[in-house]
Amino acid sequence: MKSINIELMLAKVQKLCEQRAVRLTPQRQLVLRLMAEQKNAISAYDLLDLLRLSEPQAKPPTVYRALDFLLEQGFIHKIESTNSYVVCHHVGEPLHTSALFICDSCGLVTEYHAQGIDRLLEELAEKSHFTIQHSVLETHGVCSKCVKA
Ligand SMILES: [Zn+2]
Ligand SMILES: [Zn+2]
Repeated sequence: MKSINIELMLAKVQKLCEQRAVRLTPQRQLVLRLMAEQKNAISAYDLLDLLRLSEPQAKPPTVYRALDFLLEQGFIHKIESTNSYVVCHHVGEPLHTSALFICDSCGLVTEYHAQGIDRLLEELAEKSHFTIQHSVLETHGVCSKCVKA
């Protein structure tokens, strides 16, 4: 994962939550921070293990509730095919279609803003009177580092 400035991202998220009048509890913030510190996507259970280091009483629903909130607000994306989660690299930008390139060799996840596809999906949605809430494209392959190795 391309490194993100965690403090900057958390400050942005904090501000967005205030604007949207939703509550970024310390726990939700901690889950987001833990995710941002990962090099790769992380599963809910690995996240729970990490969370338990500072909050030993944390249970699976604790993590799932935090993840649901973060997904709803568009701060993270879920990768269905690997059942894991990544922090959005475009936090605060309008709803976007993200293309997630997932390296099957090292697990690296890179997010790109799929602009051309955005437009295409919007057109299709308009035609069928469908309201898009979010869309994620999951593309599997091998990253440049693993290709060389
Ligand atoms: Zn994103
Ligand atoms: Zn790789």
